[in-house]
Amino acid sequence: MYRQAADIYQTLWAQYKELNRRKPDSKRFKEFWDKPPKAKSLHAKYTFNRTFGIKLEEQTVSLTALNGRLKGIKYTCWNEHQKLLSQGEIGDATLWYDKSSKAFYLLVPVTIEVQEQTVKQIVGVDVGERNLIAVASTTGEKYIVPTLESWKRIKERYHRQRSELMSKGTRSANRKLAKLSRREKRFTENVLHAVSKQLVLRHKDAKFVLEDLTQIRQNRITYRGKDKEARRQAEQWSFASLQNNIIYKAQLYYGIAPVKVDPHYTSKTCPVCGHVSPDNRPDNGELFVCRNCGYSEHADIVGAINIALKELVKDQETNLKGLLVNQPDAPRQG
Ligand SMILES: [Zn+2]
Repeated sequence: MYRQAADIYQTLWAQYKELNRRKPDSKRFKEFWDKPPKAKSLHAKYTFNRTFGIKLEEQTVSLTALNGRLKGIKYTCWNEHQKLLSQGEIGDATLWYDKSSKAFYLLVPVTIEVQEQTVKQIVGVDVGERNLIAVASTTGEKYIVPTLESWKRIKERYHRQRSELMSKGTRSANRKLAKLSRREKRFTENVLHAVSKQLVLRHKDAKFVLEDLTQIRQNRITYRGKDKEARRQAEQWSFASLQNNIIYKAQLYYGIAPVKVDPHYTSKTCPVCGHVSPDNRPDNGELFVCRNCGYSEHADIVGAINIALKELVKDQETNLKGLLVNQPDAPRQG
């Protein structure tokens, strides 16, 4: 914490000097040191094996504080993360205090050596609103993971409670609201963790191809009121979080980094003949029917196939380029 305090005072000292130069007669300058400074969020850096230590078997950490060393502080974390801590190289940590949950978090980075595997399949993943994910692999596997009914129900319940609390607007309602959204977030995190883990384990040594969400969702933003906007943001967050889960697990398990592709036209293009038209998806419904060649498939699966295709085309292009540049020797005459 002392380092952060030093930072704050450095900033304040700079402001003080600036005021002294520009407005030495102002009230703000004269009363500058009367009020204690405020830190926006409480966080402090810790150096591994110097200002913090960790005992994995006991699940405790020790931290250097202003009044000496604090030892044997119990911590909790996911079992998987605990395992990673024992396998990897621990780096410098950040201690962070979360005001709303009144809890301290020690963020510990871990570097893990992963052997890069050879890519055996390319897997397109479409993250969606109706279905959680649609998947298409070059192995021929195509399937949809629907949003669980139980999850939908729980989300609905949270949403109802949230609206009620928001309309009350009292202090205690706001407190309950914060607690509720934390619980909802934790719940969602657990679901996304499980879904992404299943996905990544099912496709061994896969290069996952995902949509670049930053490129498309903006088009869909329409003003739908505070309530719906909050829900939309929660949805956006869960799409991004699901993708991040896939990215991190694929790298951890196989050492293969997923790629993101431009998602434009992935829902309107026929993967067989390449015909692009919004009419390929009548009424924006679940069924894709190509107006040109008649190919039909679940619209979300078509999305996943097109996402995988975008990467495949890229791969082929580089292969073709390689062939063009490195021409095999022409057969010799003689
Ligand atoms: Zn077609």
